[in-house]
Amino acid sequence: MNQQAVDTSSNSKEIFDINKVRKSFPILNQNVNGKPLIYLDNAASAQKPDAVIQSISDYYCNDNSNVHRGAHSLGDRATAAFEGARECVRNFINAKSTKEIIWTGGTTEAINLVASGLTASLKAGDEIIVSRMEHHANIVPWQMLAERTGAILKVIEINEAGELLEGAFDQLLTERTKIVAVTQVSNVLGTINPVKEIIEKAKAVDALTLIDGAQAVPHFLVDVQALDCDFFVFSSHKLFGPTGIGVLYGKEERLNALPPYQGGGEMIERVTFEKTTFNELPYKFEAGTPPISEAIGLAKAIEYFAAFDRPSIELYEQNLLSTANSMVSSIPGMRIIGNAANKVPVMSFMIDGLHPSDIGTLLDQQGIAIRTGHHCAMPLMDFYGLPGTARASFAFYNTQSEVEKLFEGLQKIQRLFT
Ligand code: PLP
Repeated sequence: MNQQAVDTSSNSKEIFDINKVRKSFPILNQNVNGKPLIYLDNAASAQKPDAVIQSISDYYCNDNSNVHRGAHSLGDRATAAFEGARECVRNFINAKSTKEIIWTGGTTEAINLVASGLTASLKAGDEIIVSRMEHHANIVPWQMLAERTGAILKVIEINEAGELLEGAFDQLLTERTKIVAVTQVSNVLGTINPVKEIIEKAKAVDALTLIDGAQAVPHFLVDVQALDCDFFVFSSHKLFGPTGIGVLYGKEERLNALPPYQGGGEMIERVTFEKTTFNELPYKFEAGTPPISEAIGLAKAIEYFAAFDRPSIELYEQNLLSTANSMVSSIPGMRIIGNAANKVPVMSFMIDGLHPSDIGTLLDQQGIAIRTGHHCAMPLMDFYGLPGTARASFAFYNTQSEVEKLFEGLQKIQRLFT
């Protein structure tokens, strides 16, 4: 087992070879409903390279033990690998210190941790700003915080293309704004938001900023120090790592100012029945046995990903999106929801006369996996006046031929219905 922190800064990057990449994702090599699997539901959860699967198996075969107990060699090895994973994540998002990397169950728990911790800092009349295109995970915790404190939730509206309305944020921002929580990339539209600009403006009124990076980190590199946000959150399973773990990045002084989220083992310094004192960062927020194998698997996913030249992956993904866009006209009545100038390869769509869930079911019969429904973004669906959409979301292991097969599949469905 590699107990060293993963070096993701190496300059010698692997050339992007799609055949080699596909071979390293074992799940892709199977038939579904008698057809080769075409997995286009990556925004919901991405597939795992065999290096990640192997790292988890290796951990359970060789090193499995609880961490931070220091009682025996297995425990020491597990702790080294687990803390090495934290260093890997720190390096991946360029945080200043591993104290700023908190393991959570996922993006959802990370946002809940922050929203819960800010309860005592807010009073009636304070304002929280989110955007129309947030996932429910970046709406409901703030709504609950607003209900607890009497704060007001305000919403940055969007245009038809699925971009934040020009000037809308500036109009909402006031001296009463205490928190600005926005997504860096929309899980439905693929829109990349100008979060650096938003953070800068929020700082000018001393508002805290939380960036939901769940859909950003699988597509481009993020530098939290360059962004200068207070909090940044993401999930491992969308980044080719295991489920059950996510990351809360917070600036050290911001995390120190928050109370613990859950009480229990690990998060304490000393417990008496009269008073408990808490552990230092990051452990103050990690009550109970942490997700050890998951952290190790996530670090492997980052290591796997970091081996590639990132700009060539981005270009490859943009080519997949261009191919998809250029084929839309081959399906009469097909309409893309979200045509932002700046977007990751996510394509939400509707086809006249077809319900999204029928599109999903009929594509599945052809071995093609997409997602249909409201995508945990009901306020966004309300904006477009839709109950849901069909969504194909691409990853760097998808191919041009798979994009073409998606459109062939849609043509077949259309022929069935006409
Ligand atoms: N935020 C965004 C933008 C997402 O796309 C998702 C998941 O789809 C989440 C938050 C919630 O992530 P998780 O379910 O891993 O906590």
